Amino acid sequence: MSNNQLRSEHRRFQSFLRNPLLKLQIIGSLLVTASIAQGAYWGCLHAQEETVSSSAPAPQEVWFSSEKPKQGETVEVELRMPAAVPPPPVEFNKESYKFFPFQAEGGTIYKALFTVPVVMKPGAKSVKIGSTTRNITVLDAHYPVQRMTLPPSKNNFNTAPGEEEAIDGAKGTVSAERFWKGNFQAPSAARVSAGFGLRRIVNGKLLDDYFHSGLDFAGGIGSPVAACAPGKVLLAVSKGFKLHGNTVAIDHGQGVVSFYIHLSKVLVKEGQMVKQGEKIGAIGQTGRANGPHLHFSIYVNKVASTPWQWFRKAH
Ligand SMILES: [Zn+2]
Repeated sequence: MSNNQLRSEHRRFQSFLRNPLLKLQIIGSLLVTASIAQGAYWGCLHAQEETVSSSAPAPQEVWFSSEKPKQGETVEVELRMPAAVPPPPVEFNKESYKFFPFQAEGGTIYKALFTVPVVMKPGAKSVKIGSTTRNITVLDAHYPVQRMTLPPSKNNFNTAPGEEEAIDGAKGTVSAERFWKGNFQAPSAARVSAGFGLRRIVNGKLLDDYFHSGLDFAGGIGSPVAACAPGKVLLAVSKGFKLHGNTVAIDHGQGVVSFYIHLSKVLVKEGQMVKQGEKIGAIGQTGRANGPHLHFSIYVNKVASTPWQWFRKAH
């Protein structure tokens, strides 16, 4: 659909009715938002002829940042609700994702983020918001397979006591405030030596259920590592992690958390606020690493998201 087509779609006057039987009948949507006026970035899905109960209010208008996300990509869902009615969560792939309010021209809008898992099979998938169901199409990202060798001492995913819990706790952090605005930046100027989504053959054996959850930056030991976006330091671990090595995790808010692992130096403290581009540590080879590099990943509500998308465009 071209920009012009999208715009004219939205200009068509649409109305919203409420009947006395406590049922909402949506025959269309009313509002034109700035996001749409900016172009085709937002795909629009109109609510059409739906009858829902008042206990599960249907959104007047729902937008998806993409209706055809690739595996590993994050989708932002935006909606408007009648005033003072909290929106139901987004349900996708058997998980629920919370909406957060934003003040916009003409009232409050709500935004939620979900990520298509790298391992999800391509094809049509449903996304539910209350009693409204929409379909999106998951596209195959064609992530490659990489062969690597590791010494036997490092060819395992063993963790230290408490390590997994600390990492999982950081991944599951969903704080109400959104600390970022605009694009994220790469945490290192070094060359990317392993991309997001790679499957791996280690010492000749394909690792089932494994994919590379982030980007590897092949910088030398001691080269600077910067925060990809503003946020609050969730983890600042400078000893004891067997698998991840020295680790920093930053909460960017609303379910978005970045991780910096295998560091030689950690320069921040837990609870500290950091700015985008602020030096938080240095590249190292701690934990399960076969050479000096930074492993950098972005998780959105516990699901690994392709960092390239965050560097290119903000949600
Ligand atoms: Zn890595």
